[in-house]
Amino acid sequence: MDLIWSADDLAFQQEVRAFFDCEMDGDLRQAGQRMTSVYADHHASIALQKKLAARGWGAPMWAKEYGGCDWSVVQRYLFTRERLAAGAPHPPFGIHMIGPSLIAYGTDEQKAYFLPRTLSGDILWCQGYSEPGSGSDLASLQMPAIDDGDDLVCSGSKIWTTHAHVANWMFGLVRTSTESKQQQGITFVLIDMHSPGVSVRPIVMSSGEHIQNQVFFDQVRIPKKNVLGSIGGGWSIAKFQLEFERSNLAAAPELQLRIDELRAFAATVPGDDGEWLIDEPAFAHKLASARMRASTLEIYELRALSAISSGASPGLAASVMKTLGTELSQHVTELALEAAGHYGRAYQPQQLRAGGDVVLAHGKGQTVGPLPAALAPLRYLNDRAGTIYAGSNEIQRNILAKAALGL
Ligand SMILES: Cc1cc2nc3c(=O)[nH]c(=O)nc-3n(C[C@H](O)[C@H](O)[C@H](O)COP(=O)(O)OP(=O)(O)OC[C@H]3O[C@@H](n4cnc5c(N)ncnc54)[C@H](O)[C@@H]3O)c2cc1C
Repeated sequence: MDLIWSADDLAFQQEVRAFFDCEMDGDLRQAGQRMTSVYADHHASIALQKKLAARGWGAPMWAKEYGGCDWSVVQRYLFTRERLAAGAPHPPFGIHMIGPSLIAYGTDEQKAYFLPRTLSGDILWCQGYSEPGSGSDLASLQMPAIDDGDDLVCSGSKIWTTHAHVANWMFGLVRTSTESKQQQGITFVLIDMHSPGVSVRPIVMSSGEHIQNQVFFDQVRIPKKNVLGSIGGGWSIAKFQLEFERSNLAAAPELQLRIDELRAFAATVPGDDGEWLIDEPAFAHKLASARMRASTLEIYELRALSAISSGASPGLAASVMKTLGTELSQHVTELALEAAGHYGRAYQPQQLRAGGDVVLAHGKGQTVGPLPAALAPLRYLNDRAGTIYAGSNEIQRNILAKAALGL
């Protein structure tokens, strides 16, 4: 892979920059700037997604025949950098999370229905994998789906389901057999969240935001045409999907941006000895070290992008990136809290339009103290989950120990 930008790449970068300059109105800019977790305010996500889809840029990872971009690795990378640099909110997660699996395993009918609606932001997905007794050991999931003519009939519950309260579709895993090996009895299904028998109960995070939920199923009928792949063949699709989920290929540019913003903020915060915090060697050293870790992560991400662009899945790099990215992100939130000082003790999510159901009161939105300080405690609290979701980091280390090191 050639990492020197060509004249064409630089022209493309200018084109993307011009798009965001033009399309990022005040609300979108504010929603991006005030994100407190990996999720943006979902209204803002959808609004931006519609603009991107209209421009033909709604799904950088998909092939053009499905409405994707067919971009080169470098173009995807430059696009992501520009999107982040413009302070844009993150896109709805279905594009990245379920799009590639629908393309790889969906029937023509499923692709024709779900892909355009996912692209336009009209379908918002949530992921129904974890259950009260099955998280890390996902293959032990129990929620039964009983074969009944043209349908599977499902009762049970899924937990920690991000955005289930706003999603209109769920992609999930259900148990269709208990007779064979655990993995062989799992089926990948697409569930209409408005089906009779589905109910959603909020789980409020330590930050006070409502982003996760528990979803209950009471005799919910799932038409068999909404099985992705074959009945009993869901485990391979879940593994394929999880590799994409764990390889957040945009973590490094975002972390670099966060660290640069933190550096700028620390230049405005008084240090202990009368100078600015950024001039204190101990703090400056921690920031420089975080920036180097972000550069290391960036190299992994570029390698994974390269693999994906030649048709492969991210493979073990997904576990490396998930671990490095989330642990560095937590470290950056700790540094931000340190820089926030006493302002970091004020709890003011209502001013921040965070990733959950926090409503920004019209005409308000002013924070006590500087904005980076007001964001710091919420980002810190939210980010504790980063090493748990998408497969905990202990599990990622187990995967690497086994598959990469042969232990
Ligand atoms: C913010 C957030 C959002 C989430 N969003 C979703 C979602 O949208 N959809 C969804 O399906 N799920 C979601 N999850 C669930 C997430 O995938 C699970 O929490 C995760 O897989 C861990 O499972 P668990 O919570 O059951 O913990 P457990 O599996 O009970 O693990 C508890 C602890 O034990 C450790 N552990 C477990 N097994 C091992 C082992 N073999 N070796 C070493 N250590 C081990 C784990 O690392 C962890 O520290 C979300 C979770 C969070 C926190």
